[in-house]
Amino acid sequence: MPVRPIVPIGHPVLRTPTTPIQPEQIGSPEIESLIDDLIDTMRHERGAGVAANQIGVSKRVTVIEVTQSTRYPYKPPIPLTVAINPIVELVGSETVVINEGCLSVPLRGELVRNVVIRVEYLDRDGMRHDEVKRGLTAGTWQHECDHLDGRLIVDRIDPTTLSTWEQYELHHRAAFVERITRFTDEIGS
Ligand code: ZN
Repeated sequence: MPVRPIVPIGHPVLRTPTTPIQPEQIGSPEIESLIDDLIDTMRHERGAGVAANQIGVSKRVTVIEVTQSTRYPYKPPIPLTVAINPIVELVGSETVVINEGCLSVPLRGELVRNVVIRVEYLDRDGMRHDEVKRGLTAGTWQHECDHLDGRLIVDRIDPTTLSTWEQYELHHRAAFVERITRFTDEIGS
């Protein structure tokens, strides 16, 4: 059962902060198969990331990957990353408005993200990572860690910018992609 159904907004598991994974559980068959299912589900849905509670498992682990084939072709590529117990720390006060979507939410819209973050996490081998992320990549990390904290994009979106994907394509995509591509070039992400 590698590809798992995505839990939609309204399910309480999306509103429940996830439980950290004990270090000794890393590498266990249960955690390994959970990670494999997250990766298969993310690729099947062409998402930029999937958090464990989006497939109904309330554990603090997410996978992230951005390639040309995702729903978000304007995002700089991110190699496949497995993040166990990730913690995001905002760095500085510069922010950017991003039009975000989510596999669990049928609408997209504009919200504010910090431009620079520091993220600490363990990978699937238990190796500790401490990295700085910028721009849309930092936005993706903030999005996934929000999921793990029980938050959704609708908590942050300016409600006057809410849009279906179809109406986003028709009326908002071109201007957003132009602005965010210029921004991405400027910050050199
Ligand atoms: Zn999401």
